[in-house]
Amino acid sequence: MPDAIPFVPTALYRCAGPNCGVLKGGADRWWVMWSSIGDYGLPVMHLAPWDEKLAVGEGAMHVCGEGCAQKLQSQFMGNVIENRTRRSSG
Ligand SMILES: [Zn+2]
Repeated sequence: MPDAIPFVPTALYRCAGPNCGVLKGGADRWWVMWSSIGDYGLPVMHLAPWDEKLAVGEGAMHVCGEGCAQKLQSQFMGNVIENRTRRSSG
């Protein structure tokens, strides 16, 4: 048995960015994104600096940086447009 057991974080966060998936380290400047339905019944995308409480929230997405945040935002916007188009045509 080793004397010193390395500290293992209880939760491992992986970047939700498309084609990314890097694991979060302790000193990284990460962001938390999540979407919800806003006051007007419309989907809203939220972006906040890293916070453990937000990170474990329902539907929270973890992003490693600006690039992945932008990709997820564009994905979100695409989904919104797609749903809207589907709804109006169906
Ligand atoms: Zn990433």
